[in-house]
Amino acid sequence: MTELQKEFMDFKTFNFHSSIAAGIEAAGYQTPTPIQRKAIPAVLKGQDIMGLAQTGTGKTAAFVLPILERLIDGGRGFVRALVVAPTRELAEQINDNIGTLGKKTGLRSISIYGGVNINAQIAKLARGVEIIVACPGRLLDHLKQQTVSLSRLEVLVLDEADHMFDMGFFPDIKRIMQQLPARRQNLLFSATMPREILHLAREVLHQPVTIQIGITAPADTVTHAIYPVAHHLKTRLLLELLKNTNTESVLIFTRTKHRARRIGEQLAKKGFKAASIQGNLSQNRRREALNGFRDGTYQILVATDIAARGIDVSGVSHVINYDIPNTPDAYIHRIGRTGRAASTGEAFTLVTDDDINLVRGIERVLGARIKSKVIDDFDYDIPAPKNNQEFARPPRKPVPRYKSLHRPKKTGPKPLSRSTSAAGAKPARPQQRPAGSKSAAGSKPRHGGGSFRPRRSR
Ligand code: AMP
Repeated sequence: MTELQKEFMDFKTFNFHSSIAAGIEAAGYQTPTPIQRKAIPAVLKGQDIMGLAQTGTGKTAAFVLPILERLIDGGRGFVRALVVAPTRELAEQINDNIGTLGKKTGLRSISIYGGVNINAQIAKLARGVEIIVACPGRLLDHLKQQTVSLSRLEVLVLDEADHMFDMGFFPDIKRIMQQLPARRQNLLFSATMPREILHLAREVLHQPVTIQIGITAPADTVTHAIYPVAHHLKTRLLLELLKNTNTESVLIFTRTKHRARRIGEQLAKKGFKAASIQGNLSQNRRREALNGFRDGTYQILVATDIAARGIDVSGVSHVINYDIPNTPDAYIHRIGRTGRAASTGEAFTLVTDDDINLVRGIERVLGARIKSKVIDDFDYDIPAPKNNQEFARPPRKPVPRYKSLHRPKKTGPKPLSRSTSAAGAKPARPQQRPAGSKSAAGSKPRHGGGSFRPRRSR
């Protein structure tokens, strides 16, 4: 088949069962993405797969569709396929995909993750499911309580294996694998291939087919730009950028949970429809923010890398790195949220002089220099305030010891419960140095003599 023929190939080539073809139509997919073209035939043949693909390439359907095809015949009422994923968002998203693509197949799936009541999951498992999409910790709980059996499993998928490693899930995954039958099909997906993933792949996969899609470069539907700026002017510049750019929906990344929450608050204060998510939000609050972002209630979502993992929001027009990510891989993961499938997107990164090496690293992966841009009429020379309080936490009130021992009856309004106080779940740390304010204390803007001096000529 020529490249051109491949471009116009459609899902009929795979000869899926009519109920699965109905699912593909319901999802609105017309042409298989490159990873689907490569992975689907191999998975249908029963081969093990090492898939090197970032989010946004269509990798979920690349494994879901052939798994549905495999399961459509054969027994029902016991677990035949297991997908292990690092975050509950990703687990839910994969499960939603299975729901859409497999709607007419009668196959039942469940997503399993912690932070929610286990009993509803136990009840659903007891009614019988053929597919489980799970985060490792809660799945182990079920295995320990014997509320699920994986003894007749046929297919194992490890999705975003590099993230699972980062999050320390490998010991749990090894424990789960001890409960699986030795004879099974294994599919492993990872956006990057560090040594640890290679080891895991060698342990788990049997004569795998390796499929690599865009590992070294993100989707070419994304254009990139850096905006050099001093630390203390980042938020002002962000506001200007948002005012001056025609955006649909914007995902903004920060380095810490606290910064995500603060930026979210500041944007909302300035009249933007903005919300933030961080790792320690309750599941309900996360869902509310994510659904709000999906349905347009919020045009802007501010997130940390961990909180944003697995977010599938088609139609994100802009990813803005308020803080540059620490590695090129993280950059690729972040911008994987824009320019998905057929649409285009823009990735903006605010950079300070401290970030120069990180920018060069990203450029090496992209294989090109990233355009440096300035905003006309933005005053880059405003000096840093003497005491930059932008990300300072409110000082903790000293509590006399006797008070905590003999707490008087509360008469005032109830404080926010842990589940309703966004990132404030952690007690405030007194006198914390404002994040990103190394140059505070009245110094000149850092870009003054640095290598990222904003230049107006473009
Ligand atoms: P994923 O990489 O699995 O997270 O998929 C990224 C996005 O692309 C999701 O919104 C999918 O629903 C969508 N998608 C997957 N396959 C196709 C396809 N063949 N055509 C159009 N969109 C697709």
